[in-house]
Amino acid sequence: MRRLVCVEALALTACLVACKATPDDPLSKGVAALGGADTLGAAKTFLVKGTVKQWEPEQSVVAGGEPRLANESTFTLLTDLAAGTSRTDWERKYLYPTPRTYTFSEIVTPTAGYVAGIDSSGRTKQSQDSNPPAHTMSGLRLATSQREALRSSPVLLLSMSNARERVSPVADITVNGTAYPALEYKSGEQALTVLFDRQSGLPARIRSLDYDDIWGDVNYDLVLSDWRAAGKLQVPGTRKYELNGKTVSEVQVSDVEANAPVPAERVAIPGALLGTAAKPATSKVPYQWVVRRQFIGTYLDSDNPSFDTRAAVPGLKLSEVGAGIQQVLGGSHNSLLIEMKDHLIAFDAPVSDAQALWTLTAAKEKFPNKPVKYLVLMHHHMDHAGGLRAYAAQGATIVVAKANADHFRKVLAAPFTRNPHLAPKDLSATPIVDVADRHVLSDGTREVTLQVIENPHSVGMMYGYIADANLGWVTDLWSPGRDPLPEKLNPNQAALVAGVKKAGLVPAKFVSSHGSSGEFAALAALEGK
Ligand SMILES: [Zn+2]
Repeated sequence: MRRLVCVEALALTACLVACKATPDDPLSKGVAALGGADTLGAAKTFLVKGTVKQWEPEQSVVAGGEPRLANESTFTLLTDLAAGTSRTDWERKYLYPTPRTYTFSEIVTPTAGYVAGIDSSGRTKQSQDSNPPAHTMSGLRLATSQREALRSSPVLLLSMSNARERVSPVADITVNGTAYPALEYKSGEQALTVLFDRQSGLPARIRSLDYDDIWGDVNYDLVLSDWRAAGKLQVPGTRKYELNGKTVSEVQVSDVEANAPVPAERVAIPGALLGTAAKPATSKVPYQWVVRRQFIGTYLDSDNPSFDTRAAVPGLKLSEVGAGIQQVLGGSHNSLLIEMKDHLIAFDAPVSDAQALWTLTAAKEKFPNKPVKYLVLMHHHMDHAGGLRAYAAQGATIVVAKANADHFRKVLAAPFTRNPHLAPKDLSATPIVDVADRHVLSDGTREVTLQVIENPHSVGMMYGYIADANLGWVTDLWSPGRDPLPEKLNPNQAALVAGVKKAGLVPAKFVSSHGSSGEFAALAALEGK
């Protein structure tokens, strides 16, 4: 106890030294370097224009390889600092998963968020029911938008300087060999650490300690550079976002104008929708999921990341697709449970450990005393593998293509102390079965075959085949029940048809990771068209 008191006393002394406003403390220096408190305080609104390029490392072709280029976009951001409101007008040109352009506007206020237009291929019921398309933001997205607005605010340091009781010193943080003086700032539910450039005094990096479903505990940094004058203010022209040191977003600012007019109607949320809008979420915000699903234009803007909470029948459910075979439906991402003699096999662990835990509980109820012995991950993409820890923690062996085995070994060795759904545990010794070409899981009666196939979506993609049920499982290459049969096969569907024929394991029906299921013959008939 004595020791604790001592530590607290030391921390307090350190705080009095580092948090006190002196001309030399990092915050005072930072504010001065940006143009001074008076100049920053005089800026009541901002108009910012620029371009953005974004990448998704966990949607790469090769696990651990080049991050997938997701979109190239332009934006105009209008912020009213006193009111805490903003409007961003976007033109987002997505290159992945399919090329498309979304033109939409986001309005964020302290208590609600709103999107006018279509901003995702994963639209909520509210967006689909609205004419013209529009929806209110989930509390998860609103909290995320507010945190990211705070992180990139041109007056962040002034806000910190005006609320020093929420600023605490932290030890210098070394990045790429340079040690930066740093301060932590707590604002409501948000915590950001600002790293200062020792020479210029300017903020160099603004970090949050996030949780990522694949990599566990991660650093998410906004890296500021290319400083330039905007009136009497200094503003960064280049703003890069790094996830554990990998660039995932790069913003080039072309215009910054302080005190541009912000007409009230530009940042107003229509009254008809405002009444049911979510308040900002205050706990378990999956920031990385919310931010990065928007990078690829597939974010489902719902207060449950797995399914649309405003759907007619919200929630996940089991659906029997064969004897002892249950498909998990109801969300944006499906999975499959296969009953064996004394255990279960699961195909894919989509979204998060929260969805995995729901599936494990449902599996226990449906098939008592049959634990999930194998979790098969058909490919390495984050949205189909993010729940692997929940399975590993319950003792499942992970089955992946050989090409992805090293990747998943690293993933399972990564610390996950910030996991909101799972207690920390050492999962580094989780057994991994790697499949070079074909692998059969058998209990003497039922045979479940995993087959690696070549395709443009990802290296090390497998499909599943359950012979006795004449049933296949396909992840991402084909989404029957969601996408209508095309006139011509797209490259992923063509790869599936060719791969299945080559492998010689041809199911009558495929159940899938998105949508529901479809007859394979109907797809195969389109080959060559
Ligand atoms: Zn994928």
